[in-house]
Amino acid sequence: MSKLSDRITHLAESQTLAMAKKSRELQAQGKDIISLSIGEPDFNTPDFIKDAAKRAIDSNITRYTPVAGLPDVRKAISEKFKRDNGLNYSSEQIVVSTGAKQSIANIILSLVNPGEEVIVPIPYWVSYIETIKLAEGIPVTIPTSVDSNFKITPQQLEKAITPKTKMIVFSTPCNPSGSVYNRQELKALADVIVKYPDVYVVSDEIYEHINFVGKHESMAQFDFIYDRVITVNGVSKGFAMTGWRIGFIGAPLWIAQACEKMQGQFTSGTSSISQMSAMEAVKADPSVTYSMRDAFKKRRDLVLGLLKEIPGIKANVPDGAFYIFFDISSYFGKSYNNYHIKNSHELSMYLLEEGGVALVSGDAFGDDNCMRFSYATSDDKLIEAVRRIKKALEKLK
Ligand code: PMP
Ligand code: GLU
Repeated sequence: MSKLSDRITHLAESQTLAMAKKSRELQAQGKDIISLSIGEPDFNTPDFIKDAAKRAIDSNITRYTPVAGLPDVRKAISEKFKRDNGLNYSSEQIVVSTGAKQSIANIILSLVNPGEEVIVPIPYWVSYIETIKLAEGIPVTIPTSVDSNFKITPQQLEKAITPKTKMIVFSTPCNPSGSVYNRQELKALADVIVKYPDVYVVSDEIYEHINFVGKHESMAQFDFIYDRVITVNGVSKGFAMTGWRIGFIGAPLWIAQACEKMQGQFTSGTSSISQMSAMEAVKADPSVTYSMRDAFKKRRDLVLGLLKEIPGIKANVPDGAFYIFFDISSYFGKSYNNYHIKNSHELSMYLLEEGGVALVSGDAFGDDNCMRFSYATSDDKLIEAVRRIKKALEKLK
């Protein structure tokens, strides 16, 4: 009998992190692996942010901070929400956490009771479902496909709502599909949500600055549901700060207070030095992120062009983030040597072992027909990766 708790026994490992770990292990054994598994910008953190960290250390800002964040940092985030998103969150409505991942865990653990349903559009980011299960909530998924640009319709949302629905959790721009909801599409979803006063929305906007189609739109902008939306954001993606571990929320005060209480028992205030650096990031004009965004767009176009040359891959044009989530199900049922491919997981293992490319299988995101390709790496690696994928797929008969 396992000595571990049922809780941890039933928790699935993060598939994005698992694939990244596997690639690192194979690389350490001397294998030539191109890892396109983890969602992480390959750029360095901008110098003005790094300088703020050095200043923080030299000024001895190295002690515990208030749990919800240093007052100046919360104020800067409050101003960022106003400046970039037109959202009014006072400093008291901001909670700074150890990554947006912790922000999301705080919210779900603070709001979801056992047996309550949480609506999650497919494809979803891996950690939503497991965190909901940890809270003993019931994930209720809504299917989409490459043909609908992986976006849900208001009709689908309305159909998924039941008297047990507690919240909906989604990301825009979306990890893993790169889909970006425009204002009209968000408004149509908000028009459904307003009819159900006990339903909350977790709007994960961490890819805000990696948007190739124009203005980022926030769910909380619709004042008729503002008091039921929790806006999640952070500096990991847009500012290439994944290792600094800073995420934050803007939320109704009572929810922010609950998240602060939760965090007070788990981790306390996040790193004081990272907070001081993140403050410089959110204070800066968003144009400091544009060169990275433009580089991602060029890479997206490069990879989409190359993927077109592989028969049987069906991809849409993602409007944001740095992923392509393509349908690869036409290869299911094919074989090569001992490999008999039945699903996206087996195909990802085949591409890793036979092709030397690490992607994340779509089943991790709820869609077994697909595969996630993170193009946050150099052109040379991207070109070589697609060449390898093509060669490996050609062998499958
Ligand atoms: N939400 C989404 C959609 C993500 O892709 C990530 C990436 N890790 C996170 C939240 C968490 O980000 P972090 O904890 O690095 O701030
Ligand atoms: N969010 C990134 C991804 O989807 C980082 C890994 C993780 O935190 O799961 O790959």
